[in-house]
Amino acid sequence: MNYVETEIIRNGKVLSEGVLKVDSFLNHAIDPHLMTKIGEEFSERFKGDGITKIITIESSGIAPALMTSIQLNCDLVFARKRKSLTMLDQLYTAKVYSFTKQQTNEISISKEFLNRDDHVLIIDDFLANGQAALGLIDIVKQAGASIAGVGIVIEKSFQPGRELIENKGYKIESLARISSLKNGKVTFVSDKKVTDSSPSAVRSI
Ligand code: 5GP
Repeated sequence: MNYVETEIIRNGKVLSEGVLKVDSFLNHAIDPHLMTKIGEEFSERFKGDGITKIITIESSGIAPALMTSIQLNCDLVFARKRKSLTMLDQLYTAKVYSFTKQQTNEISISKEFLNRDDHVLIIDDFLANGQAALGLIDIVKQAGASIAGVGIVIEKSFQPGRELIENKGYKIESLARISSLKNGKVTFVSDKKVTDSSPSAVRSI
């Protein structure tokens, strides 16, 4: 079990078979030491990929994305869920249906901060149905930029997000992969692999 998984077991709360609450270290309170390690791990997995910019969505993607941008020494920009009064025009936008809030937001990034020379790493806190990541992919394409891959802190592997992104041919790296939240218990993809004693399963970060 890696340290993101350990943190989930220690402090995560299973709200239902589909939703995990991690307000104590990722979605409300933020554990800076954990974020530092997360930045180092994403950097390790994507270094050498020529990334010039990280993009994420406010608000919970910002902390892991910031720590990764420090490690990769690249720029960072986050998509806004609400347009600010100062963002009058020149925006790339995409519609994103939120799994947890059950509402559609229009996310936007100013054209000023994304251009065709960028090679982009997309980072987010959770991957569920893949709508947030697909919205960001759409925005990168509108800018004519290229995509290095997608980095996710917590992936719910029993939902279709990973498959949708992989089917588009993008590299995806998730630090914790949850295979089930049934019966109030978190099970990881790596738990199953360890039981199967597959050597590749025992991966610590
Ligand atoms: P997707 O677009 O992949 O369906 O969902 C990704 C977004 O929904 C994440 O940015 C995250 O904010 C939120 N999300 C999805 N599932 C969960 C969950 O189980 N717990 C929490 N805390 N957020 C989630």
